[in-house]
Amino acid sequence: MKITVDEGKCCGAGSCVLAAPEVFDQRDEDGVVVLLDPEPGVELHQAVHEAASVCPAAAIALAEAQ
Ligand code: SF4
Repeated sequence: MKITVDEGKCCGAGSCVLAAPEVFDQRDEDGVVVLLDPEPGVELHQAVHEAASVCPAAAIALAEAQ
């Protein structure tokens, strides 16, 4: 899995951080998402899918590893 985030789309809702705090954080200044781990281990994939699906701005894109 490879994660990309679109900081321009992110509205700072923080839903991704709640769903997968090991992978996502937010900037202190404006709440925009910070990607902590763009290629998380398989044990985190379910949480990452959850994070992407709850993001209100659809700012999280997931690509499965080939
Ligand atoms: S859930 Fe989406 S909009 Fe909210 S902080 Fe995360 S990436 Fe940004």
